[in-house]
Amino acid sequence: MTLKIGVIGTGAIGQEHIRRCENVLQGAKVVAVSDINVEGARTTLQHLNIDAESYADGHHVIQLPEVDAIIVTSWDQTHEEFTLAAIEAGKPVFCEKPLGISAEGCRHVVNAEIKHGKRLVQVGFMRPYDTGYRALKKIITDGSIGELLMLHCAHRNPTVPESYTTDMAITNTLIHELDVLRWLTNDEYKTVQVIFPRVTSKSHSRLKDPQIVLFEMQKGVRIDVEIFVNCSYGYDIQCEVVGETGTAKLPEPASVQLRSEAKIYTTIQTNWKDRFTAAYDIELQTFINDVKAGGELTGPSAWDGFAASVAADTCLKAQKSGAIEPVEISQCPAFYAKK
Ligand code: NAP
Repeated sequence: MTLKIGVIGTGAIGQEHIRRCENVLQGAKVVAVSDINVEGARTTLQHLNIDAESYADGHHVIQLPEVDAIIVTSWDQTHEEFTLAAIEAGKPVFCEKPLGISAEGCRHVVNAEIKHGKRLVQVGFMRPYDTGYRALKKIITDGSIGELLMLHCAHRNPTVPESYTTDMAITNTLIHELDVLRWLTNDEYKTVQVIFPRVTSKSHSRLKDPQIVLFEMQKGVRIDVEIFVNCSYGYDIQCEVVGETGTAKLPEPASVQLRSEAKIYTTIQTNWKDRFTAAYDIELQTFINDVKAGGELTGPSAWDGFAASVAADTCLKAQKSGAIEPVEISQCPAFYAKK
């Protein structure tokens, strides 16, 4: 059986996910899409040569009897609403990050899913599917570098649009680290502090860039994350873990070594789409396979979306206060215990 998918939001990542469902992944087909700009959605389908219906209202897509599962790739502010509607309709939903624009919004999704009684939500945190992060996780869990002590991370973009503001460094950018660092360390955040170094001249008045986010985990591990979204030189994701007997670092993405003009060099990627292509493929294929198998979803859960959002809300508070702020997360419900 082919899983029939409805996609809400046909912008940058919506188009990427539609393309991968059609051309890369197995067992699924996009049968309906919606975008607030329905003409844009039609043009996207034509451009991708896909035979599917276009609608202006995402709720219409969720209600279509021929749609088995939903992908939400619209603006952040709409994720909670469409995910809740999919749960209400009893349809599995892959929701891009963030699950909601606040922890409170994510909690509504968690509550609705628990009430439904079966996991229906996978959040689009793709880094746990990245080969490099998986290798780091294995090194941590098999004890190759002894007990974990520290992590040093960086999230650098070459540039961001004028609309990108200081808080978005947390809600749009750091949110990926907020998920993957919980997963890597198998731990929860205890405190967070945000420090602002000298601002780069490449930034604008509404964006303090770079920022350094300092975490203490509940088991005592310390993590520093540099967010630098106007670094000019490339899209560069770094993560080094330090244990009692060794260190391990995220591998650089594969790149051809060039010899030219008396230099040896490799290039650095500049686009987020390229850095995690394989991880995006695997996360969505996992969603499709899990839905088709009819058992429990295994990808990042609504609880993971909520936990990242609790940490994000606290980071926003720490940006303003400059103080070390406690991250207050409740006990994970048994419903989300990993089986
Ligand atoms: P984008 O290019 O602005 O696309 C969003 C699309 O959703 C636009 O086409 C927008 O309409 C449409 N839209 C807005 N409200 C809608 C509604 N109520 N119903 C239907 N469509 C609606 O943004 P993007 O970069 O694709 O990001 C989309 C989401 O994916 C964001 O939440 C973002 O955080 C997330 N994302 C995740 C990753 C990742 O690495 N996992 C990467 C990129 C983005 P218009 O045509 O009018 O603008």
